[in-house]
Amino acid sequence: MSPVPVARLTTRHVAFLGVPWDAMSSFLRGAAGGPAAVRRALASPSANWTTESGRDLAAEERLVDAGDVHVGADASAVEAIATQARAVLATGARVIACGGDHAVSLPLVQAHAALHGPLTVLHLDAHPDLYDTFEGQRFSHACPFARIMEAGLARRLVQVGIRTMTPHQRAQADRFGVEVMPMDVWPAAPLVLDGPVYLSLDLDVMDPAFVPGVSHHEPGGASVRDVVRLVQRLQGRLVGADVVELNPSRDRDDVTAMVAAKCVRELIDRLLE
Ligand code: MN
Ligand code: MN
Repeated sequence: MSPVPVARLTTRHVAFLGVPWDAMSSFLRGAAGGPAAVRRALASPSANWTTESGRDLAAEERLVDAGDVHVGADASAVEAIATQARAVLATGARVIACGGDHAVSLPLVQAHAALHGPLTVLHLDAHPDLYDTFEGQRFSHACPFARIMEAGLARRLVQVGIRTMTPHQRAQADRFGVEVMPMDVWPAAPLVLDGPVYLSLDLDVMDPAFVPGVSHHEPGGASVRDVVRLVQRLQGRLVGADVVELNPSRDRDDVTAMVAAKCVRELIDRLLE
């Protein structure tokens, strides 16, 4: 995954974009270390770059590293992330973004919707992230999908793996027409989604047994295989994706970073189709 400046990106490319921003985390900081940890895990000699479909990403010239977005500490980062993502997308390249906490998904979805129009957003998470505000903050990592729905950036929001639905967020989900699939009805059949699809993967959708390196351990979650299978079998035109909420400061022996890297590889495989 060689570094390529934005000016040299083309429609052929899938660009890895790091978004090291965790200022909107409500409980623990640390997710800003996510992009560096995922790059290390991708490059680790303990594994290889081949996807389960048999595509060797080490030999894939269309996969490039577009570097990290330079973000400040405050909510101005939302605009900085959107601007950088729009610049990458304007080249025709597709983006696989790596957070950061889930607050990074608002500007990423803004940039994709600016190019494609309203999206079908597939959101994998233990948490609905639909708070109107959280601890006084409208751009908290607990709020991005409220902002996305208010702005009309998504025609459909499909949430999978949810297991922390509060009454307030239930009301928000009803208000916005969110299609919520709680964890206990994890889809057995391939998801069939119309329109341009954006996939947002919060690693805590998986059980903390698989992903100790996240800020919010929410028991009773999915397995790595559940998530990989959902990605591999998804039917729809995937136009972009993010993987968020890796917190390396909580990780154990890089196991969560390796899970994140695997999910990134499988998503890249779909974006290269
Ligand atoms: Mn989330
Ligand atoms: Mn979550």
